[in-house]
Amino acid sequence: MTDALATQRPMPGSAATTPLLVASNVRKQYGSVEVLKGISLTVNAGEVMCLLGPSGSGKSTFLRCINHLERIDGGRISVAGELIGYAQRQDRVFEMNPREVARQRRSIGMVFQRFNLFPHMSALENIWAAPVGVKKVPKQQALKRGMELLDRVGLAHLAKAYPAQLSGGQQQRVAIARALAMDPQLLLFDEPTSALDPELVGDVLDVMRTLAADGMTMIVVTHEIGFARSAADNVVFMDGGVVVESGAPAAVLDNPQHPRTIAFLNSVM
Ligand code: ADP
Ligand code: MG
Repeated sequence: MTDALATQRPMPGSAATTPLLVASNVRKQYGSVEVLKGISLTVNAGEVMCLLGPSGSGKSTFLRCINHLERIDGGRISVAGELIGYAQRQDRVFEMNPREVARQRRSIGMVFQRFNLFPHMSALENIWAAPVGVKKVPKQQALKRGMELLDRVGLAHLAKAYPAQLSGGQQQRVAIARALAMDPQLLLFDEPTSALDPELVGDVLDVMRTLAADGMTMIVVTHEIGFARSAADNVVFMDGGVVVESGAPAAVLDNPQHPRTIAFLNSVM
């Protein structure tokens, strides 16, 4: 095989590095305060990116921009080759209509620090409600899938429990199953374990590790350095609205180059 062919075809059995999320020079400001000052990064399909940084560095804002919860003021974000918020027709770019926005949002799952389950619905109902209500999946099919997903997060035995009867860690695992029920191509996690009692953190991280091993593409904002080291393909350190340092976990976490990265890691490890 010639070199040219070799570069076009992934090796058998090796993951092709297809960019799933590409952010280039993303800018966002609130009033006159610039919160994202030109963020550029790429997450390949099937990879996990951990986003670290001190409070106020813009991590949540960046995730919210990916998921249409905020509008960007500059740059572009694309997921699976499609611009977020903009449709391309012929050679022109248009703002998406609400239908297109809703379709795009459905393909991106988000798990928040607070679990945001519907309190009046059982764990299982929380999972099948959106597939049935929004995606028009037949109820029996959504129920079956909901049970499979509960099993996957280790909670099949609690299908009928209401959120108030579940621990924070169990609620967060239901929230993850709920996000998975929409078959997202990208899952965003915003400090998914920060609100949990320490003894409940491990179960949630284990579920996330399993998802990562199964090839889910994920961006995880977290202060859990151990998780980043073991599960991330790439680690990005943000501070003051810019990417300060990024690379493989071993490079960024164990051999950081920038003084701000070093100071941050010292504060959380
Ligand atoms: P992080 O998630 O890294 O802690 P955020 O993205 O939440 O950071 O916030 C980045 C900065 O943007 C902070 O200074 C915060 O106060 C500000 N900010 C976030 N959301 C808003 C908002 N809706 N209006 C005004 N300022 C905001
Ligand atoms: Mg945040």
